[in-house]
Amino acid sequence: MALAVTLSAERVPLYNGAVWDVEIVHRSARGLDVRMRDGTVRRLRWDQVERSYPGHWFREDGSPKPRSADVPAVMEPRSGGGHFGLVWGLVFGALWLWLYSAWRMGVSGIYDMDRQPWVNVFTLVLGPVLAVPLVLRHRGLAGLTGISRRKESAAAPEPGMPQCRFSTWDSEPLLPSTKRRFASGLALAELVMARAVKAGASDVHFDMTPGGVRMALRVDGVLRSPEVLDAELGRKAMAAIKMAAGMDLAKLHEAQDGACHLQAGDDLFDLRVARAWAVTGETLVVRLLRAGGVGTNLTEMGMPSAMATAAQDLTRETAGLIIMCGPTGSGKTSTIYALLRRIQGTGRNILTIEDPVEYRLENATQISLNAALGTTFAGALKASMRHDPDVILVGEIRDREAMNVAFQAALTGHLVFTTIHATSVLAAFGRLKELGLSAYMMNTGLKAILCQRLVRLLCPECREAYVPGEEEMRFWGVQPRPDAATNVFYRPAGCTMCEGSGFRGRRGVYRMLAMDNSVRAVVRDDMATGDLQEAVERAAMGTVADYANALLWDGVTSPDELRKTLEMFDFGKKLSHEHTL
Ligand SMILES: [Zn+2]
Repeated sequence: MALAVTLSAERVPLYNGAVWDVEIVHRSARGLDVRMRDGTVRRLRWDQVERSYPGHWFREDGSPKPRSADVPAVMEPRSGGGHFGLVWGLVFGALWLWLYSAWRMGVSGIYDMDRQPWVNVFTLVLGPVLAVPLVLRHRGLAGLTGISRRKESAAAPEPGMPQCRFSTWDSEPLLPSTKRRFASGLALAELVMARAVKAGASDVHFDMTPGGVRMALRVDGVLRSPEVLDAELGRKAMAAIKMAAGMDLAKLHEAQDGACHLQAGDDLFDLRVARAWAVTGETLVVRLLRAGGVGTNLTEMGMPSAMATAAQDLTRETAGLIIMCGPTGSGKTSTIYALLRRIQGTGRNILTIEDPVEYRLENATQISLNAALGTTFAGALKASMRHDPDVILVGEIRDREAMNVAFQAALTGHLVFTTIHATSVLAAFGRLKELGLSAYMMNTGLKAILCQRLVRLLCPECREAYVPGEEEMRFWGVQPRPDAATNVFYRPAGCTMCEGSGFRGRRGVYRMLAMDNSVRAVVRDDMATGDLQEAVERAAMGTVADYANALLWDGVTSPDELRKTLEMFDFGKKLSHEHTL
């Protein structure tokens, strides 16, 4: 069967300047198959084709460009493929037909149309009817529709779903044709990823269980109820993802990390893949990070405008340490990157040391810690000081050594961003002290401490209004509005738009303390925690009442959701003056 279909006649510019006027027979990830004037078919590798060629698989910047509008969908010819089941079924059907007919009236009688013609017609019809369940049993619906289904799957998926394509970290597209063994798994993996992107998920979990592969999406920080995928297909989907992430498929019982890219419609995502071996089998977690990050606009991320201005002023500092605190998944890295993007292009050399690098930044040196080689933040930071950085992001301060190196860098004319595991501004001071930082270092090196949490936003379609009691309003420190009709708080309900969760999207809640003289005086004199708390309350930007007024009245979020941030304000804690820090 002639599977090579002529697509078009085109002029193809080559890397050496020549232009070939040829017929394109076939396109694939490997290259173009072209028919020359003399009728011979030749393979042109993509690196031999000029990048200006509109149908080129790789963009100027090297990122993958699989199957966009100007690249016709690749239909890989497969030997027999979907036809196989149909042919097999028909052969069986014919055999049955023959056996049935022979039993009914003898071999010679079958072809005698004068004798009982209705039996002849019936037996003729019986063959294909018997063939259908056979095909369905072995090949599913795909067996019956054969190649037509393959064409459909290469076309756009259901409306509203972005079309997803995996590519390796080196931007090599992963296609069913190149990884034939995993073709069906890859299609499922692409479908799952399309759903994850559409739902705005941050993570996709795959867990092998005895009943199949359990798949769950984390949306707005909450794991949605899982779905069970077919065991065989689910395992193949996991294998396809691992292959894209460059993992060693043979090392079954070892924990592994990998990374790859995902093109979803017009968006490019970086995927971090982690696998481990659990009791019930393999488990795989895929984190989706939008390439290029979430943006530079702090107010859009939820920061009050006065605080955003103050934070942006900090980026003009030439030296000092800026600390972000908050638990994992509270958006600290996004905030730091929003600040780093403001510094980008101001002629300052940016260097980041992370575990692993989460977002990519143009014109910056980004170093991923390699835990396997035993590198630490402190070691990597010491080594990178010779790279002449002006602005440094140290992923996290975990120990005394890392803290000392970071503060040394801050004191020697570098602007250093870092994160620390502490619940509030006050707790960050406590943590630094616990790591053995002197009051002098704290006062000279530290520029600001930022705290962050993410709150889920109520789904505007289904949120329920209720009238808050006086006590509740007093708790939040809000004043009733003059118009009694708008005096309502909202709580979540759940509808199809939010998949029953009652929430859609998240925004940040921030608190920021820029070191000023009043705070420095308390730190210098090593005064009681209570005094430091008072100084912090006076100097820090962002209070519970501010956020309650901004978020609760208009139903941006619910009181229960805002309650989760109270810890970061040390709300309701009155620390005794006797205890020293
Ligand atoms: Zn809803």
